[in-house]
Amino acid sequence: MKRIFTIFMTMVMLLGMTQVAMAAEKNPDAFQAAVDVLKSDQKVEETEALPKVDPTEYIPVLMYHHFAVRDMGFGDGITTMQSELEEQIRYFKEQGYTIISMEELDQILTKKEQEKDTDGDIGLDMKVKYLCITMDDGYYSNYDLAYPVFQKYNVPATIFVVTDYITNQIGLKKFTWSNASEMINNSKVGIYNHTSNHVPAGKTTTEEFVAAALAGEEALEANLPTRRTSVRALAYPNGQNTPELQQALLDEGFSLLFTIDPGVINRSTSRGAIPRIMVSSGMTGADIVARIEQTAARTMGS
Ligand SMILES: [Zn+2]
Repeated sequence: MKRIFTIFMTMVMLLGMTQVAMAAEKNPDAFQAAVDVLKSDQKVEETEALPKVDPTEYIPVLMYHHFAVRDMGFGDGITTMQSELEEQIRYFKEQGYTIISMEELDQILTKKEQEKDTDGDIGLDMKVKYLCITMDDGYYSNYDLAYPVFQKYNVPATIFVVTDYITNQIGLKKFTWSNASEMINNSKVGIYNHTSNHVPAGKTTTEEFVAAALAGEEALEANLPTRRTSVRALAYPNGQNTPELQQALLDEGFSLLFTIDPGVINRSTSRGAIPRIMVSSGMTGADIVARIEQTAARTMGS
């Protein structure tokens, strides 16, 4: 039985990789996102009987990419339908999750850092179930399809944009600075930094990466005058980072730095490498909560 399950999971993974390769071929711009999917889907292992971790002890950060109006057929792994997003948000609310912004996340972590850990465990001991929603790259569908849902349910969400891509409309259609302003002014959507050029850490020096991060920060300030935030949050392109880069960015005042490694925020999470949980095509709210719980058990369970 175990063997059959392993074979089944291998087939699922191979199928996933073929789809991702096909999607990437059709659209090179989707490749980065496709790599993310592969990376997180490869972590799907046999379901171990890990003890459930109390959801008030950690904060999951979800990562979305594209949205679409209707089912694209077989599913490309990274596109969420608008109706699915709506069902998911409604489910998170029903399940008692408080969805939080970057400012709120920063405040919660600061408070926890100031409090002494009395019980010595790695939990955050917050009494509340928090959840963060993030999207990478600034695709037009974030504005066109996801923003109306966030607005309708009045929930915060964070979009990490590549500032040069917004200014020059590079690659797959991105929303404009004017769209971004509209989201900031009329909803709890926040616009944050995915560097100015999307050059991953593995393809540049620490100095050049920090310069691109600071250029991204400047572009956000210049193009979004109504944006009021004291928090410097950034998602690493392709998730790539090094301990040296983490420190260099923390030294520049960045306080929330996101990877694409699966995991949840707990007391031992570094602000320089915050893990995220991938939302794949076709997931229901219940599927996502199951993935969150499984990831928490792996991250924190002993
Ligand atoms: Zn990206």
